[in-house]
Amino acid sequence: MTNDQQNIILENTPIERIIDPVLEQNRVELYIKRDELNHKDISGNKWRKLKLNIEELRRLNLDTALTFGGAYSNHIAATAAAGKEFGFKTIGIIRGEEHAELNPTLKFAGDSGMQLHYMDRTTYRNKESDEVLEHLRQKFGEFYHVPQGGANIQGIKGCMEIMDNSMREFDYICCACGTGATLTGIIAKLNPHQTALGFPALKNGGFLADDINNFLNQLENNNQNWRLITDYHFGGFAKYNNNLIDFIHRFTELHNIRLDPLYTGKVLYGIYDLAQKAYFQKDSKICVIHTGGLQGIEGFKHRHNINL
Ligand SMILES: *Cc1c(COP(=O)(O)O)cnc(C)c1O
Repeated sequence: MTNDQQNIILENTPIERIIDPVLEQNRVELYIKRDELNHKDISGNKWRKLKLNIEELRRLNLDTALTFGGAYSNHIAATAAAGKEFGFKTIGIIRGEEHAELNPTLKFAGDSGMQLHYMDRTTYRNKESDEVLEHLRQKFGEFYHVPQGGANIQGIKGCMEIMDNSMREFDYICCACGTGATLTGIIAKLNPHQTALGFPALKNGGFLADDINNFLNQLENNNQNWRLITDYHFGGFAKYNNNLIDFIHRFTELHNIRLDPLYTGKVLYGIYDLAQKAYFQKDSKICVIHTGGLQGIEGFKHRHNINL
């Protein structure tokens, strides 16, 4: 990347304190690292995970990135936008059938120049096997493979950059989890006094612990100061109830920070709930990473016919 191109991404995103009587009564200090402000369309942890993958694509002299995702995927949208912004081709392999009308996420991806292809759900389960990738290479030619969610070692190393010196003052660092790549990057850079909490967006998210431990092994890091909080998925990925929607509305109104209902809304809801249950030590300083995901709001409204 030239210096010119790097300037368009905000690398040192601001940290803001959230002043709220609910938090004060429960004696915790809450902060948000506004990583969603790093770029309009390559937002939050999606930029973190793409950054070193784009460098790797360049290093290998490839001009096309191929990746995978669901029909509303933040990662698909971000990869498409990154291809447009940084000048490489993108191919998105989308889980499930093609629909006559593109949803807002896929429309955005297509408009950004991404070639969209659909993969049946059975094949999709093995999408990252050598066999399926080989088949895709025969079909599309040589490409740089970015795994679903940007969850590879480059993606994790990019997420380690979230943990700059300004993060040292916090006792807890919290984030939403899909693949666990972002949480792994945070764990890898924890200071001894710090604990990382990951909030899986999927039901039964405890399975992520194995993936995270595998990644930590690759980094030769055996930090144990982290936990998965699996109680705030609201029934599963992209599921919700009125409490969650009311919480997001209240939070955005009071603090003027938008949250998405799939990831960041659930993390903040969980932290408020845990604070009220005295989960955190008194006078703890908690920092939540705003991992972005705001493009998903349109898709969520599209699916559920709900106002956000
Ligand atoms: C993709 C995404 C996540 C999940 O990140 P992982 O690194 O896959 O765990 C969390 N929050 C938001 C807003 C996302 O878009």
